Amino acid sequence: MSGWMHRSRDLGGMTFIDLRDRYGITQLVFNMETNEDLCKTARGLGREFVLQVSGKVIERSSKNAQMHTGDIEIEVSSLEVLNASETPPFTIETETDGGEDIRMKYRYLDIRRKPVRDNLMLRHRMAIETRNYLDQQGFLEVETPYLIKSTPEGARDFVVPSRMNEGQFYALPQSPQTFKQLLMVGGMDKYYQIVKCFRDEDLRADRQPEFTQIDCEMAFVEQEDILNTFEGLVKHLFKAVKGIDMADIPRMSYDEAMRRFGNDKPDIRFGMEFAELNELAKGKGFKVFDAQELIVGIAVPDGTSYSRKQLDQLIDWVKRPQIGASGLVWVKYEAEGQWKSSVDKFFSQEDLAAWCEESGAKVGDLMLVMAGGAAKTRKALSELRLEMAERLGFRNPENFQALWVTDFPLLEWDEETERFHAMHHPFTSPKPQDLELIDSNPGAVRANAYDLTLNGNEIGGGSIRIHDRALQKRMFELLGFSDEEAQAQFGFLMNAFEYGAPPHGGIAFGFDRLVALFGGSESIRDYIAFPKNNSGRDVMIDAPASIDDKQLEELSLRLRDNAITTK
Ligand code: ASP
Repeated sequence: MSGWMHRSRDLGGMTFIDLRDRYGITQLVFNMETNEDLCKTARGLGREFVLQVSGKVIERSSKNAQMHTGDIEIEVSSLEVLNASETPPFTIETETDGGEDIRMKYRYLDIRRKPVRDNLMLRHRMAIETRNYLDQQGFLEVETPYLIKSTPEGARDFVVPSRMNEGQFYALPQSPQTFKQLLMVGGMDKYYQIVKCFRDEDLRADRQPEFTQIDCEMAFVEQEDILNTFEGLVKHLFKAVKGIDMADIPRMSYDEAMRRFGNDKPDIRFGMEFAELNELAKGKGFKVFDAQELIVGIAVPDGTSYSRKQLDQLIDWVKRPQIGASGLVWVKYEAEGQWKSSVDKFFSQEDLAAWCEESGAKVGDLMLVMAGGAAKTRKALSELRLEMAERLGFRNPENFQALWVTDFPLLEWDEETERFHAMHHPFTSPKPQDLELIDSNPGAVRANAYDLTLNGNEIGGGSIRIHDRALQKRMFELLGFSDEEAQAQFGFLMNAFEYGAPPHGGIAFGFDRLVALFGGSESIRDYIAFPKNNSGRDVMIDAPASIDDKQLEELSLRLRDNAITTK
């Protein structure tokens, strides 16, 4: 066996070493009486020394049921030290004493820890099972280039200067979107790829500048075909990787998801659905409510036990900038016929009873109500709903519930630039029955676009594409591209549409997130062998880094005089 010295113990005349390799831990035993030299060598070894041993597998006298190999040990007859090791900067244990920063710097040591190893093994298994399923379904894995030009996902590009084409730049793909559509025009009909994508975004919680997608596209299909094929993939993964028989995945329109949960990726493992109270709560003399677009509440099970202080803390919680609510009204359904509320000066017991009925609150429940602009209020209440569910233990990561969200709006109004953006991307087709609205009320046009969510996380999204040049041109107009801009950026695709483009559509899954959720975590970083930190740095190899003047020269680049070059 070969591996690393995990731990050693000297007990009387015996020395025990736990040898660690990719497969786990095996106990080695050395005996002072039968082989003194060898036992002395063993006693001199340090943590993380690289060893190769041979010997006899024997049954242990005191077995360890907690351990995979706990019934046996190896009576070592020869030992070779293949390499020594410095004392590692943190313990190579499941519960390590190393903080995140030091573990990232020495990621190769971190990878020796069982939890990280297990995560990488899970990732491997999921990639293999994805390939198995898609291969069985007749998909071809086709690689697409990384040195390309801007793709349409709407984030900022990473760019790469070209030495041979002075002053010109490649962009790294935000996704293989245009290439997979061109593969459909090329007759490939069922494509997939487990592929890196690059988006230069500010790294909000748990994003990575490079991440992996299971990217897929099919020709001659409708939305229904895509949903069924990839529901099949998710079911296959659950069965093959976790032994879970997943039931058929329910579907919900975007509008319904927003109305019932205030969220386009609702966690539907628990209730606490939104109850809209405009009819019941307006015109009762409470001015704060009267002027608002939406008054909406949820019923928190068994929430009446919340003390005044806890309620005040909750109010502070929703007022934090991350949530941004202006306030929170509460109603306690204390007993049959008895309601207590922060607004009982304005509302009668009958009013409060009606609210509780609307939200399905029962005796002992706490209603939490927000008011304001519809979009903002829904968003804030959705955050509160998730927080309350977390506190109540309703968000068990081992309880899985997927949901298709369909019929997304085609366009999204951007306040800042005062124009429409594609909600998914500009190649997404509008619903034919909404086409007539495209000039009069573009914001109301729905798209053939869908997301797959799991436990309140978006794990995949896609659409049926436009495959008609005229419609694609119209779409670019709506998005405020001039003809020249559209031609310059995506002319190659529109030209391809002139040559018999088949109807097509697809989807891409966020592979890192999917693996993390299967692993019971929401942190994708733990499931990536060499992740970057919040500033987009790889602290192990120390990237990004400056390049020398000669390289800049070759690339015809000059840095701004006051550019700060950090090491
Ligand atoms: N390219 C899209 C994305 O990265 C997915 C798709 O439409 O297939 O979100």
